[in-house]
Amino acid sequence: MNEPNFFAGGAFDRAGLLRKDADWVAGLMADPGTRIIPVWRDRHLIVIKPKPEPVFLAPAEVPPLAPETESMVLLGIVEDTAVLALDISHIEEPLARPELTGRGEFIDIRDVGSLLSRADAQLMAFSRALFYWHRRHVFCGLCGAPTVSGEAGHVRNCTNADCATTHFPRTDPAVIMLVTDAERCLLGRRPGRENFMYSTLAGFVEPGESLEEAVAREVMEETGIRVANVRYAHSQPWPFPANLMLGFYADAASTEINFNTDELADARWFDRGEVRELMAVRDRAESTRLGGALHLPRPVSIARRLIAEWIDGRAP
Ligand SMILES: [Zn+2]
Repeated sequence: MNEPNFFAGGAFDRAGLLRKDADWVAGLMADPGTRIIPVWRDRHLIVIKPKPEPVFLAPAEVPPLAPETESMVLLGIVEDTAVLALDISHIEEPLARPELTGRGEFIDIRDVGSLLSRADAQLMAFSRALFYWHRRHVFCGLCGAPTVSGEAGHVRNCTNADCATTHFPRTDPAVIMLVTDAERCLLGRRPGRENFMYSTLAGFVEPGESLEEAVAREVMEETGIRVANVRYAHSQPWPFPANLMLGFYADAASTEINFNTDELADARWFDRGEVRELMAVRDRAESTRLGGALHLPRPVSIARRLIAEWIDGRAP
């Protein structure tokens, strides 16, 4: 198997069968060793120094923050310890609460990124994705009745007995691809005055479409380039808010770029030397410091890895 991308590879047990057992789930909160990650409006409580790490709460600290178990999800079992997440988005100023004061800051994990351990990053990304889904499915899409969380936060059940539909968390597949033409690769820049990032092309898979077809369609729509020899590389969960990025390489079957100005501000062929120059600017912050230097996507992204592996001659 390929080396996992960041936000994957944490190697914990999702306990997919155990979490259906309500008694087992209830027992987790009775175990003082259970660890709970608080999540507030898509942000995680993180201690920055000496190294960014998530703050875990003990079960006894939960009731004053969120009296209802509706706001909890099981993430999995890490080295025999259950790890759950708690949504406290209903609290206006969480750091003013005595349980949380002085314990860290609520931070977007994308801003800490690779400084987190891979295992922690995956758990936090997973929790964010689940709560995003819960917030948007409090009513049944079929009958409109309220839904309630079940299976430790991994389903929502319609409360209308005549409907009783079970809703499952959603992940939206998106393809992301590096198109190459011998010693050149195709990168695009999204519109935006402050956007100096060139990246791989990407787009959502449509219903009734194979991944290979999605790759070819997106490249054609965005740049007018035809592709051949579409091949899968690796994938990355990207729950910002709910995507699974499926990484591909493709060969260019035509070379004249005619980019879609609704989606892109520019699309160009870059040779390896030019891409290495883009790599020299580490991230958006450094680009800003340099007054708008062109740069590549952030190091934890699959886009960056697809480009880097092509540069290194490791692309399939
Ligand atoms: Zn319903």
